[in-house]
Amino acid sequence: MTAALLIGISGAPDAIKGTGSAASVRACRALGIDALELAWVHSVSVKPEGGARIRAAAESLGVRLSVHAPYYINLNSPEPEKVESSIGRIVLAARGAAWVGARNVVLHLGFYHTDDRADVYARVRDGLLEAQSRITALDDVDPSSVCLRPELMGRASQFGDLDEVLRLCQDVPGIAPCLDVAHWHARTGAWNTAHEFEAFFRAVRDALGPAALQDLHIHISGIAYGPLGEKKHLPFADADLDVRAFLDVATDMGLAGTAIVESPERERDVLWLIERQREAAGSACGE
Ligand SMILES: [Zn+2]
Repeated sequence: MTAALLIGISGAPDAIKGTGSAASVRACRALGIDALELAWVHSVSVKPEGGARIRAAAESLGVRLSVHAPYYINLNSPEPEKVESSIGRIVLAARGAAWVGARNVVLHLGFYHTDDRADVYARVRDGLLEAQSRITALDDVDPSSVCLRPELMGRASQFGDLDEVLRLCQDVPGIAPCLDVAHWHARTGAWNTAHEFEAFFRAVRDALGPAALQDLHIHISGIAYGPLGEKKHLPFADADLDVRAFLDVATDMGLAGTAIVESPERERDVLWLIERQREAAGSACGE
């Protein structure tokens, strides 16, 4: 059966031959990995011609691309020029995503600092509305081909808990969440049983409607955490995230979209998860 959640890797697979994103796409296909998140986390350097080559490789080989925008985004910076350059980076990432044929663009949006949470929310929302309106005005790409995805963040200092991410998706037209289940577990110390994963996706459905569960973008990895949330990503085998419970819930609820593995073990954990997904689907079908 076709998997409803396509499982993918973040960044180039270790088995890449050559360099560049088109080579990463070919490595994914050779490994049986169906999705690739381009980690533009330091800068966006893609050009239209290079983008077209990446797009052609991904389309011909059936690898779904997404983009992780640069980390250097803080829509709640006290310095206006940093907010402006953050908006610029979001627009650049969106334009590059359109060039490579990636729909989903994952965003970290900023930090609370010591500010009032409601004020931070309003500033981040307004920054995102501005980015979205500049993206809509781009005339060299089709802006409707791109979907910004604010990420559910793992540290208590980072803007983006579940409520904030879902509210943003209600308040800013045309965006959708990037649901990092490891981050949410790290941030809360909970949300790690089948019952809790079900409640999590029901909350997403209640906020954004049933169609949101058919168009998910998920991040998953093992994770180390403490009272302030995420410390670092870990291989699945070295962490307590109940990945099998997550997969069972994903199968039972018929979740669809993309799940990107952000484990430091990268392709080993991606291939392991693809195999566990097959098992989960098989037992759900009574095979
Ligand atoms: Zn991220």
